[in-house]
Amino acid sequence: KAKMSGDTATLHLDGIPPEVLSKVEKYLQLFQLSPEMLQEVSARLRKDLLRGLGKHSHHKAPVKMLPTFVRATPDGTEKGDFLALDLGGTNFRVLHVRVEEEAQKVLKMDSQICAIPQEMMLGTGEQLFDHIATCLGDFLESQNLKGKTLPLGFTFSFPCEQLEIDKSILIRWTKGFNCSGVEGKDVVQLLKEAIHRRGDYDIGSVAMVNDTVGTMMSCGYRDQSCEIGMIIGTGTNACYMEEMKNVKRIEGEDGRMCINTEWGGFGDDGSLDDILTEFDVEVDKTSINPGVHIFEKMISGMYLGEIVRLVLVKMTKDKLLFKGQISETLGTPGQFETKFISEIEEPDSGLENAKKILTELGLDWDPVDACVVRLVCDTISSRSARLCAAALATLVNRIRNNRKLDHLKTTVGVDGTVYRKHPTFSSKLQKAVRLLAPQCDITFLVSEDGSGKGAAMVTAVAQRLAHQSRL
Ligand code: BGC
Ligand code: MG
Repeated sequence: KAKMSGDTATLHLDGIPPEVLSKVEKYLQLFQLSPEMLQEVSARLRKDLLRGLGKHSHHKAPVKMLPTFVRATPDGTEKGDFLALDLGGTNFRVLHVRVEEEAQKVLKMDSQICAIPQEMMLGTGEQLFDHIATCLGDFLESQNLKGKTLPLGFTFSFPCEQLEIDKSILIRWTKGFNCSGVEGKDVVQLLKEAIHRRGDYDIGSVAMVNDTVGTMMSCGYRDQSCEIGMIIGTGTNACYMEEMKNVKRIEGEDGRMCINTEWGGFGDDGSLDDILTEFDVEVDKTSINPGVHIFEKMISGMYLGEIVRLVLVKMTKDKLLFKGQISETLGTPGQFETKFISEIEEPDSGLENAKKILTELGLDWDPVDACVVRLVCDTISSRSARLCAAALATLVNRIRNNRKLDHLKTTVGVDGTVYRKHPTFSSKLQKAVRLLAPQCDITFLVSEDGSGKGAAMVTAVAQRLAHQSRL
């Protein structure tokens, strides 16, 4: 344990003179969470999971613990052709997916990315859904699928109160979206209305899928013990298989149901205030949804770059960096991209990348500046990885306790740009989870297109179950 707290940053200290380092560390201290603090964070989340699951406490719970109506993971007998829509990650996509029973394979037949202009992300819901229906229509046309009426899995990566697999009310937009007239409405209905407004094609049954659920299901086809799905990308979230008897809001005591935790909302009631830095407070204030998704804003790709930028600006104002000169670009919100963090932390080329990026940002840097920037990036991405680890540890420990096991062996399906692209994020996360959940043996499986193939898988499982219940 003692070792973990010393981990952060040891890599990037070379090249920073001790007197500079001791000043820099004052800004970074609050980002460095001790193992004890991470345990405390995990304990707080454990309580919040219970509040979210409770029949009478869930209304006010910051961690929403949403039922998904996904009760089973794939059993390998699923098959057929499906459409999938994926909204809420880096790109909006339309896909045609085939699930093959014999080969136990999920094949992406074809797919298309449709850009969603920023104005549309902040426009009316009707415009957004008309655009989605148009993209789907164009895709069906190009694939010669227009007359087919295929079932559709809709990966919609926002918190939804799901009433059935095909009835799903948007609770709130998150990340970069804020379209009017959608919150509080059934998203399946809005999609169908938009398709009917066109009138030139139709779709079959719909399954609504959070991206975490798609991720879990796409890994579930390869590994039957996959019962957690985690996303660390533009946003962050996880789902897991919970015992039905603990899901107090849904009738039935038998079996399990996948719960979309919406852990991004952790801290929305102030429970993380003691670990928020002034920079986190600022990021929240200037976001399009102030006051909500506090945990997400400390962790996910939409915000990490901005946290780094704010720290660099403050250090520069205090004359610790760039001879005290802030460039116009560095002074502009959003201009320090999260992908820069990954590039700057590259083990071999990181310092060179840092220098290139600082030049592009119009900064007058010296070699010590580049090392300090690297240290800042490392500190902030490490905090993100360790907070995710604390949250994931809470989930695996809960599953282990649910099943009254001394030891749990399980698989987590993971996706998201931060997890995939950052050079050391995954190893830091895994290391911290092992310390925080020592009785759990976790395999991490990067999902193969959870939002596309996984959504098709959810749709296929829903069809199989519907078919079985008719027999
Ligand atoms: C959303 C989740 C989603 C996550 C990852 C969050 O902002 O609330 O529903 O799973 O982002 O995409
Ligand atoms: Mg996605």
